[in-house]
Amino acid sequence: MFDYSCPGCGQCCGTSLPDHVGAPCHLCAAAETWERLPVETREAIDTAIRRAAMPGLLAMRAADPPIRLPHATDLLAFRYNAGVIGDSMDR
Ligand SMILES: [Zn+2]
Repeated sequence: MFDYSCPGCGQCCGTSLPDHVGAPCHLCAAAETWERLPVETREAIDTAIRRAAMPGLLAMRAADPPIRLPHATDLLAFRYNAGVIGDSMDR
């Protein structure tokens, strides 16, 4: 196991792969993906996430280029951290 600080947010990361040392953590990678998305796509995804996690994941897969699992779950966590939470979600 290798421990290092994420270059984006400085939080402690661990990896079993030496090649991954110094790579952004999952949330920072998700933030980068999010910033590359067009505004309309972001709005479609946020609207879907507010309904529930599943429509959110489907909206990400429908994005261009598609965001697939497991990265889609990182993006979902990133949006939850940003305060996009569906009213019907169990937390
Ligand atoms: Zn980070």
